[in-house]
Amino acid sequence: MALTHDGTDDYAVARARLIASLKQQIRDDRVIKAMSRVPRELFVPPEARLLAYDDRPLPIGWGQTISQPFMIALMTSALRLTGSEKVLEIGTGSGYQTAILAEIARKVVSVERLSELAERARLVLDRLGYTNAEVHLSGATLGWPQGGPYQAILIAAGAPRVPDSLLEQLELHGRMVLPVGSRHDQELIRVTKLPATVVTERLGGCRFVPLIGPEAWDED
Ligand code: SAH
Repeated sequence: MALTHDGTDDYAVARARLIASLKQQIRDDRVIKAMSRVPRELFVPPEARLLAYDDRPLPIGWGQTISQPFMIALMTSALRLTGSEKVLEIGTGSGYQTAILAEIARKVVSVERLSELAERARLVLDRLGYTNAEVHLSGATLGWPQGGPYQAILIAAGAPRVPDSLLEQLELHGRMVLPVGSRHDQELIRVTKLPATVVTERLGGCRFVPLIGPEAWDED
């Protein structure tokens, strides 16, 4: 169980304001509850802490960003989690999205390609007591096939197309939410795996850092 906040900490007012605004946009109690429990200020660099509850992405070093809270809420809600799922996350980054998923799902397996970020995220998640979240350094294949199959997959970086290897790691009837498009501009989509087909729904425009590696973009 994660650290909870009793409303007396320094960030309580800013956090409450953000949560009130998200509630107007995302009608999903599980997600709103998770977002009100996870201290985002612990996932941003010290110099950005005062901005932790602004609804915008922030730099976290190594050219990467912590996603905008609205986008985190939208993607998590789109996975339609009930609490029993094992979820795969691609792109741990700060670990904030990992914590939100860990609040709701049974287990979270997160992979990150940059060792410094993976290490830092692991420390914060451990400190907050998320024993149901694991962070791995990504290997030669996209995702983490040895931990699968997963009932839900969230990709936190922009992909040129839906990666086949992740569809393989997704269980039947599982949902995958990801940004798809060009290197700089994407559309958020939800893919549902059905017996003979894959259903794709469009959820709106977005802008993520590129997914790098196999079935994705080159490093530069
Ligand atoms: N949701 C995260 C955002 C992370 S930014 C947060 O809120 O902090 C996207 C992350 O994906 C970056 O840290 C980047 O290094 C990572 N990434 C990019 N391509 C990857 C890949 N193929 N496998 C694993 N991680 C990847």
